[in-house]
Amino acid sequence: MSDGPQQSTMMADRAYARSLDAEDPLAAYRAQFVHPQGPDGGPVTYLLGNSLGLMPRSARAAVEEEVGRWGSLGIGGHFEGSAPWLTYHESFRASSAVVVGARPEEVVAMNTLTVNLHLMLVSFYRPHGARTKILMEAGAFPSDRYAVASQVQWHGLDPTDAIIVAQPRVGEATLRTEDIEGLLAERGREIALVMLSGINYLTGQWFDLERITNAGKAQGCAVGFDLAHSAGNVPHALHDWDVDFAVWCTYKYLNAGPGAVAGCFVHERHAHRTDIPRLAGWWGNDPNTRFEMRPRFEPNAGADGWQVSNPPILSAAPLKASLTMFDEVGLDALRAKSIKLTGYLESLLHNLATDRFEIITPADRQARGCQLSLKVPHDAKALFDALSQQGIVVDFREPDVIRAAPAPFYNSFEDAWKFADAMRQAVRE
Ligand SMILES: *Cc1c(COP(=O)(O)O)cnc(C)c1O
Repeated sequence: MSDGPQQSTMMADRAYARSLDAEDPLAAYRAQFVHPQGPDGGPVTYLLGNSLGLMPRSARAAVEEEVGRWGSLGIGGHFEGSAPWLTYHESFRASSAVVVGARPEEVVAMNTLTVNLHLMLVSFYRPHGARTKILMEAGAFPSDRYAVASQVQWHGLDPTDAIIVAQPRVGEATLRTEDIEGLLAERGREIALVMLSGINYLTGQWFDLERITNAGKAQGCAVGFDLAHSAGNVPHALHDWDVDFAVWCTYKYLNAGPGAVAGCFVHERHAHRTDIPRLAGWWGNDPNTRFEMRPRFEPNAGADGWQVSNPPILSAAPLKASLTMFDEVGLDALRAKSIKLTGYLESLLHNLATDRFEIITPADRQARGCQLSLKVPHDAKALFDALSQQGIVVDFREPDVIRAAPAPFYNSFEDAWKFADAMRQAVRE
């Protein structure tokens, strides 16, 4: 948006935010979510869908339905009704596939995120000869670093040597794609696996996953992504990009509730492979012979072959309810609103013309999703506390970052205005 003085004043006006809401084709979805109450009895301004998405109203009924079926049918719930538990995950497989740009057989809902990352590392991190390393981004989420380091150690290797970390240039907060490509061109033959996040949790940078996959494949590396902060936030085309595997949680932008069942993608190319190791369990066995209780594991084709246990139905039910809404609205409409909403928030923050914080998330919309990360050089915690006191729910990440993520499903332009207005007051103090 251009920002002549008049434009800036108009944008800073609450009425202008409301006029944007009045034009928003997704505005009605706000009421389909439960908004927590603040101290004044009104709803808080919730900008933390990057951490835990709000509860869709339909989630409660979805869980109650399964609890009810458990009570009335007992074991029969596995076989009876429109979505029996035995094949419950099939009922939303196609919707999950759309979220990550995959074919249905390439995705499965199972376990939780870090567990899925471990399962994928077992199959796709295969150090051999001179090719022993894993390429990660600087500032990757701690769980991913712990998982990767522990897998490296489990292979008898030293993480300080085997993990190559792509660093931003001096004085820059985010990575340049050409630098990741350069690193791969230079050291690709040492690298067994490229494992980055889709969007970095701290900076909000959306990586160019297609270019990174191409660069990794050109060097003969396996390529996998953690989509925790990108699934349900930005579009993906995992199948077409030829990514080997991906994992994601469903409680952030996918609004499926705390600890909900996670997602996993394995490219079709690996659907029938029996030459790679995997940690097996009965649920990954071919369902045609699963209940024959045979001594030898016969993997199911596709991502399903990586399942270990029978799935947690009570945490899959809200995911199913939530994905129904994604189907209804479509990712294009969500992304279109998201671009406007985050862009609007960014303009409002620029208008504050303060040096109290700096937005470190890329300004390029192709390099970010919903989230804006504010680096606060001094007293970040005090600024965060001042925002909290005004009913703004954002978060603070040590040592100096405040993250705010307006989610297009349930946040309004007025929410963005409220955040910027609270910030205006807080930076004055
Ligand atoms: C949120 C998040 C996690 C959390 O992992 P869980 O196994 O779901 O607890 C891990 N990695 C990344 C990148 C995340 O953003």
